[in-house]
Amino acid sequence: MEKDEYDKYVLAGNIAAKVREESRSYVNVGTPLLEIARKIEDSIKKLGGMPAFPVNLSLNDEAAHYTPVPADDRKISEDDVIKVDIGVHVDGFIGDTACTISFSEKHNAIVKAAEDALEKAVPLCVPGKAVDEISGIIEDTIKSHGFKPVANLTGHGLRQWEGHAEPTIHNVRVNYQYVLKEDDVIAVEPFATDGAGRIKDSGPSVIFSLVGKKPVRSREARKMLGDIEAFNGMPFTERWLGSSFGTRLALRDLRRSGILYEYPVLKEVSKGTVTQAEHTVIVRKTPVVTTDLKSFAD
Ligand code: MN
Ligand code: MN
Repeated sequence: MEKDEYDKYVLAGNIAAKVREESRSYVNVGTPLLEIARKIEDSIKKLGGMPAFPVNLSLNDEAAHYTPVPADDRKISEDDVIKVDIGVHVDGFIGDTACTISFSEKHNAIVKAAEDALEKAVPLCVPGKAVDEISGIIEDTIKSHGFKPVANLTGHGLRQWEGHAEPTIHNVRVNYQYVLKEDDVIAVEPFATDGAGRIKDSGPSVIFSLVGKKPVRSREARKMLGDIEAFNGMPFTERWLGSSFGTRLALRDLRRSGILYEYPVLKEVSKGTVTQAEHTVIVRKTPVVTTDLKSFAD
């Protein structure tokens, strides 16, 4: 890996980590999700990065892919378990990290299960390691805490402008044949649940990415398409495009034209609570955890 590329991965990861840790102070009971999302995405830009995807603020049995809509009225409640999943890019080089925040002691064990699995998995991100061994450690650790790993949610490789690349990092053993190479960049993200251990698509999508090209008829949809092209294929949400009635109509037209990929909200099949912890790692003999500020402290 070129030094310039390495530096950008580290910068993106460090920004994501700072914003993640800051968010712990303002993700509180009663706070609107919309306000949290604005703060996180503003901080990313202030620190010199760009969001690699809309911040995911997924609650309770929502495992991933919820982000506030323009007039969102959801607020955090005392009992909520909230996954804060942050993506930052610097020239397309991505840092992807997540933590789970809760306010009641009764959730401590399930939060710890995902954190412990991540902590045990990260040191294994070295050249020559079979990915399935990492998946096995994640599965065993979560089970040792008395919970289930979410079997159909996975970590993934990262490449420039590409948020989901090879290899897939399963959270259970699946006999997947991939051996890590030096300088692979991977996001490891264990999910733990007290439910059945699977997620399904649920409800309308609020996150999209541009995957095709087609002429669009309305002037507003054409203008919106121009704005979306600036995201370079990375995921976006309606909030980023405006909040007028015209915005809604233009987005509807683009969705109908089939050029958008949709990321449905993912919910646990048995309404179980889901927790997550995630780091981005550059595979080296000593793994470089770009989203762990401790490893960059002097
Ligand atoms: Mn993530
Ligand atoms: Mn990820």
